[in-house]
Amino acid sequence: MNYRHIYHAGNFADVLKHAVLARLIVYMTQKDKAFRVLDTHAGIGLYDLSSEEAQKTGEWQDGIGRLLDADIPAKAKALLAPYLTAVRDLNPDGGLKLYPGSPKLTRMLMRPQDRLSAMELHPDDYETLHRLFDGDFQSRITQLDGWLALGAHLPPKEKRGLVLVDPPFEVAGEFERLADGLAKAWRRFSGGTFCLWYPLKQGAPIAAFHAALQALEIPKMLCAELSVRSDRDTTGLSGSGLIIVNPPYTLKDELDVLLPFLKDRLKQDRHASARAFWLRGEEVPERD
Ligand code: SAM
Repeated sequence: MNYRHIYHAGNFADVLKHAVLARLIVYMTQKDKAFRVLDTHAGIGLYDLSSEEAQKTGEWQDGIGRLLDADIPAKAKALLAPYLTAVRDLNPDGGLKLYPGSPKLTRMLMRPQDRLSAMELHPDDYETLHRLFDGDFQSRITQLDGWLALGAHLPPKEKRGLVLVDPPFEVAGEFERLADGLAKAWRRFSGGTFCLWYPLKQGAPIAAFHAALQALEIPKMLCAELSVRSDRDTTGLSGSGLIIVNPPYTLKDELDVLLPFLKDRLKQDRHASARAFWLRGEEVPERD
């Protein structure tokens, strides 16, 4: 396990993932009934952007660094408010030093009746995450393989929930594992909302991945993708995508506001692009 999220925290991919995660949680809080968030690949929860590791890549500067003080059109600003308010609340003296990972952002948006279950397998990162939530009875942090949690921890006893699956993609076969993991998890918790993250980069098998997901016959599946640059000149990440199963009915319209704004704000070259479309349900675009 070589992947450490501190090198990437707050980058353009985190911005899309965390902005959408915040929308999903805000939507869940509209009903009084308690919900649980299962975060299968949680990371350390809170990132110091002034640390040697974060400074080494400086990735956050082209992510949250471009957004926090940006002039944001009113509609996008309202949609980003829960996410950006959380980031600002962690930096009360202004500036940008601390950045929330998915479990911390989730926790900041939860109500007293809601619960978080977070899995992290890396021993050091697990220790750090566990310490961060020490004494918080609403959160359960476990050192467990997140793929196993998709079986063992579903359905949640609350029967309402959101599952975030955000693997590091450091080993081959992760796209297949993501599709298989969703199939298994959805069989156990078909009423849940699921959010899966995947990388866009040269050679990534996106069409095959989408086809594998469509074959699962899950009725409602939305896809959001944002590329900030061409994938031609880099072997690194050129963008990222999210699959949202059972999305709130408002999410597609929200993505149609957020994605063009994020593309404009985060683009690194003229090949930047963004799209939100239904993989299953609502209107599925015709194949070429
Ligand atoms: N979700 C986090 C966020 O948005 O702030 C970032 C997570 S990072 C992309 C992926 C994390 O998964 C890493 O911290 C890594 O140590 C952890 N990890 C890798 N394999 C895992 C596994 N099988 N089960 C649980 N965690 C794993």
